[in-house]
Amino acid sequence: MNAAHSLNFAAALVGEASEAIPRILLVDDEPRMLSSLHELLKPFNFKLSTAGSGKDAIEQLELEKFDLVLLDMRLPDMSGLDIMSAINARTPETDVVVISGNTDIDSAIGALKRGAFDYLRKPYAREELLKTVDNVLKQRSLAERHRQVTMRLENSEKNYRYLVDNSPDIIYALDEEGKFTFVNNRVQQLLGYTREELIGQHYSVLVHEEDIDRARYVFQERRVGERASSNVELRLKCHKALGGSITFENSLLTISFNSMGMYLSDTRKSSGEYFGTYGVARDITERKRAEALITYQAYHDILTDLPNRALFKDRLGLSIIQCKRNDSKLAVMFIDLDRFKLVNDTMGHVMGDELLRQVAIRLKGCLRRGDTLARIGGDEFILLMTDLKEKQDAIEVAEKFLKSLQQPFHFGSNEAQISASIGIALYPDDGASIEELIRHADLAMYHVKAQGKNGHGFYDSSMIDASHQKLALEKDLRKALERSEFEMHYQPQVDIATGRITGAEALMRWQHPVRGMLTPGEFLPYAEENGLIVPISEWMLETTLKHLAAWNEAGISPTRLSINLSPQCLERGFPKKLQEALLRHDISPSQLEVEITENICIRNPNQAIDQLNMLSRIGVSVAIDDFGTGYSSLAYLQRFPVHTLKIDQSFVKEILFENTRSPIILAIISIAKELGLNLIAEGVETELQADYLEKAGCPTIQGYYYHRPLGLDALTRILVQQAA
Ligand code: C2E
Ligand code: MG
Ligand code: MG
Repeated sequence: MNAAHSLNFAAALVGEASEAIPRILLVDDEPRMLSSLHELLKPFNFKLSTAGSGKDAIEQLELEKFDLVLLDMRLPDMSGLDIMSAINARTPETDVVVISGNTDIDSAIGALKRGAFDYLRKPYAREELLKTVDNVLKQRSLAERHRQVTMRLENSEKNYRYLVDNSPDIIYALDEEGKFTFVNNRVQQLLGYTREELIGQHYSVLVHEEDIDRARYVFQERRVGERASSNVELRLKCHKALGGSITFENSLLTISFNSMGMYLSDTRKSSGEYFGTYGVARDITERKRAEALITYQAYHDILTDLPNRALFKDRLGLSIIQCKRNDSKLAVMFIDLDRFKLVNDTMGHVMGDELLRQVAIRLKGCLRRGDTLARIGGDEFILLMTDLKEKQDAIEVAEKFLKSLQQPFHFGSNEAQISASIGIALYPDDGASIEELIRHADLAMYHVKAQGKNGHGFYDSSMIDASHQKLALEKDLRKALERSEFEMHYQPQVDIATGRITGAEALMRWQHPVRGMLTPGEFLPYAEENGLIVPISEWMLETTLKHLAAWNEAGISPTRLSINLSPQCLERGFPKKLQEALLRHDISPSQLEVEITENICIRNPNQAIDQLNMLSRIGVSVAIDDFGTGYSSLAYLQRFPVHTLKIDQSFVKEILFENTRSPIILAIISIAKELGLNLIAEGVETELQADYLEKAGCPTIQGYYYHRPLGLDALTRILVQQAA
């Protein structure tokens, strides 16, 4: 019962391991023996087969795999040893228990030598047989378990190897002396060392000299858990003899380390014995590079590579502190390129950018050591000069800057000329804070601009008033329309031959409540800056047409009235508004001329031409104002629907003496004649000028010599007189 119980247990074990019922072959030539064996084993969960002869046994062994063969050694047709040989040859995993009589005990021993599991001597006791079978099956079940555990171990070892070797990180272990005992394959890809080269080497062969001290904490880490080193950054050296197969951009990689101490687990002691360190090292070179780039970009201007405003302010802040401490001076220099916008608009942004780059290089060439030059806006540069001995030092640098810009800039076949206006503020005289110094240098720069550009100047406290005035003016400008402070004045245009007024130019005035009458030059630039120019121009058009309608009504109108138009208005669908207004006031378009400057075409020539064509189609004529002073006038002349050229006053002013020759005026006159255009000379102040122009062939004249710009009533009176 006991044996049967344990046999059941063994069967279950085998079943659990292989999930198969044990297959047993019973071999005996004595039918009685065979059937008693069969009877004995039948109650158990076995798959039993029987063979009455050696041949029969061999045949069955060939057909099926058995777990166990109970083999009678003495068979009539062959010896049990032969069968054993056959089993060993075909299925060595099959176990054999030999059953032998006394006579063939030798062959039973032979069978044991051939690997039989056990032998029983006939006649055997039932329990003995069952116990032996149980032993075999138990053994097999254990062997099977062992095999499976080994297989699982091998698989998990393989998986682990795969993971470790394919990890994006270097995984390593060191012994207590700091020598590598393990390192995965990644080390070769990242650093160029083979595993074999490193095993047994001290970790210091890999570490950059400057990081050795910090490396000690990582590589000789004895702590475990949260206290162990994590995310420590070290620079590792790459293999020098990398050859062609692996190349690194850098011979150093920045690696982030996590490491822990390793201890032998010893259940008898509370803590194990330290035997080394293991760790994971991640290549963060790319991240480092990206971080460095981001930091760089946050503090530099990408176009010129110069520091940007943020970095400049930072350095200025530090320098101010130093100056305070040492009782020394510094200068902040604001450098703004003159007419850069024009260059940018005419040559395009790509060239504009290139010009800025070249300017930056030239300016950099003028710096002293320790100076910081930054680009803080489109065409604005700012310089910090520390250790200033005297004002003169700043002047010298400013002059160097201006001189360095004098040579033209070249871009392929193109050439550009640019100058700069430079404002200088000194610490501590002109300001005590970062903001104040920059603001005051900026103000000084504006002053230089207003003074005719291309120069330098120091900040002066009176400039504050000017800038306050500008701000106040802008504020007032917004209210001027509501308060009806604008007026239209008209300057007659006179036919030189007859002395009659044939036209008039509408010129805007602002009756400022405090500052009195302001001319357009004093307020229109601000209106253009802040967009107020559009509503102001609409008011101007409306008022002018109202006056013209009134003159028409009275029958005293000059032949033509001209209005000035800023480029912004033309861009914003002015022709259509004009057409509607003309209809509303019942004015013939032929009575109106629009004056534009040549620069109108710079930004977007095609659009300008479209707009001018539209005006022309409506029937309004177009005059080019200040002709000869603008940009590329002749190139566009033929493409424009132009009717009139106005000779700029600067050319007229040059006519000072009886024998003056003005080739430009003569050229403009001949161009107008060639192209069949009307011609008006502006700014004629003297008889001499009027005579010269008449002789040269200019038919119409506008200027103080005849009339200053007049208010509505004054001109109306003159027109009434003329009509009488
Ligand atoms: P502009 O169109 O060239 O007008 C001629 C300017 O020369 C006027 O200046 C006029 O007063 C001045 N002037 C006329 N004869 C003489 C002279 O003999 N000697 C001198 N020294 N100057 C003379 P103003 O009125 O100050 O206008 C300046 C500019 O403002 C105008 O130049 C024109 O471009 C612009 N402007 C005037 N009114 C308007 C307007 O309603 N809208 C726009 N967008 N611009 C206007
Ligand atoms: Mg004009
Ligand atoms: Mg003009």
